[in-house]
Amino acid sequence: MATATASLRRMFIDGQWVAAEDGRTLGVINPATEEVIADVAYGSRKDARRALEAAHRAMPAWMKLSAWDRAKVLKRTADILRERADDIARTLTLEQGKPLAESKAEILHSADTFEWFAEEGKRAYGQVIPHSQPGKRHLTLKHPVGVVGAISPWNFPITLQARKIAPALAAGCTIVCKPASQTPLCLVQLFEYMVEAGLPAGVANLVIGPAQEIADEFLENPVCRKISFTGSTEVGKQLMKGAADQMKRLSLELGGHAPFIVFPDADPEVGAKIAVTGKFRNNGQVCIAPSRFYVHKDVEKKFTEAAVAEAKKLKLGNGLEAGVEVGPMFEKKAMENTVALVDDAKKRGARVLTGGKRSDRFEKGYFFEPTVLTNINGEMKLMTEEPFAPVMPVLDFSKLDEVIRAANNTRYGLAAYVFTNDLSVAWRMMEGLEAGIIGVNEPVPAVPQAPFGGMKESGLGRELGHEGLEAYLETKYVALRLRDS
Ligand code: NAP
Repeated sequence: MATATASLRRMFIDGQWVAAEDGRTLGVINPATEEVIADVAYGSRKDARRALEAAHRAMPAWMKLSAWDRAKVLKRTADILRERADDIARTLTLEQGKPLAESKAEILHSADTFEWFAEEGKRAYGQVIPHSQPGKRHLTLKHPVGVVGAISPWNFPITLQARKIAPALAAGCTIVCKPASQTPLCLVQLFEYMVEAGLPAGVANLVIGPAQEIADEFLENPVCRKISFTGSTEVGKQLMKGAADQMKRLSLELGGHAPFIVFPDADPEVGAKIAVTGKFRNNGQVCIAPSRFYVHKDVEKKFTEAAVAEAKKLKLGNGLEAGVEVGPMFEKKAMENTVALVDDAKKRGARVLTGGKRSDRFEKGYFFEPTVLTNINGEMKLMTEEPFAPVMPVLDFSKLDEVIRAANNTRYGLAAYVFTNDLSVAWRMMEGLEAGIIGVNEPVPAVPQAPFGGMKESGLGRELGHEGLEAYLETKYVALRLRDS
């Protein structure tokens, strides 16, 4: 058997490291240097079919195992991820660009996710429901959904697959994973760890390849009972349409456009620090990144000055270098989109307080300077489209109801942030904001044990938390008639 660490990184299907059936390969690029760092097998629909069939064959034995036995593989995977965190974090930085400290945090969060679902799988309880007629009894059983197709983007390549693999396997499902084409390398490494942790053949499979082909196989092959997708709202909608034919189960984690709202009772300089932490993490390429900053007019000046000072302090560079806090954007197109977004805002009247352009300090790499803008209006593209960029537009407001209306004035509803020390204000905002995730004085809200997902066009269903396990379970209702005694 070939190993995944040979010079060509292979896919993992039915317990084997394999090349693409038709021999295709793809180069993976380091966004800091623009160099090809590895070649991966680049499969096709045929490989996706092989993987689904393997997952289908593996499912009866996997679902018959006790939750305790399934948990052993997940828990060992968590342990290995922690032991090798430095190694896999380096791979993540090389292919995605984020600074090493952020990569390591992603790996440790993924390990926690594996561990948490290893335990939560033991709590897939049914219910006994009180009866209304003497001879009848009612109960529910939990049953795994079936084979899952899991598609994820490039911004958190490990974490976003961990949020699918861990609950699916804990629930007794088997899975075929398709990572983003630009960031497959750390997934190959994760699969090596899962194999070492005792993953049986066919239970989890890795297919790298063109999205449309693989998604079509997931949609049209009846063996695949559920698609779990993280990515853009546009692709989420296409999958939803395609899933209707076979009534496939769907979990959709989609785009966002999060407001960050600063009230005048709390220190605006502290608020600016929290805002900058949330905004420039992973270069703003985060689904829950704050992307519209509404600051009360009484503190707007202080907040903006502090935010500019904090943004200027951030060290931009190759994520592998010590002390770097912001890496390159993940691909050339993302950087060009950011240039266009800022140009559009400038044309419509925005003022650049810092940044606003591609960094000229680097000969290679997709580096964009952390940017703060004011004089913002609702016509600018960065207010209407998900920006996914290191750009911080600051607006002011004067009344709570007015800012709730502005914050909710979007088709998205993923995350929202509130900065205040006033409990009544925080409570009104929690009730009024249309967002699945709300951070109160907290810019990085995700934890494995709490539900994560969006309202409106930001998605369907929740990952993480007990809800994240339920997403891979069907409820069977059983009515039982007792013999007369
Ligand atoms: P994208 O274009 O939708 O791609 C995401 C994944 O879907 C990749 O694996 C991609 O494969 C695949 N894909 C592309 N076209 C597809 C198609 N027609 N059918 C099926 N799969 C397809 O998203 P992106 O722009 O790269 O990623 C950023 C988006 O993800 C943002 O909107 C962000 O907000 C969202 N996101 C959401 C969450 C959340 O939890 N809500 C988390 C992170 C990111 P290839 O790479 O092979 O093209």
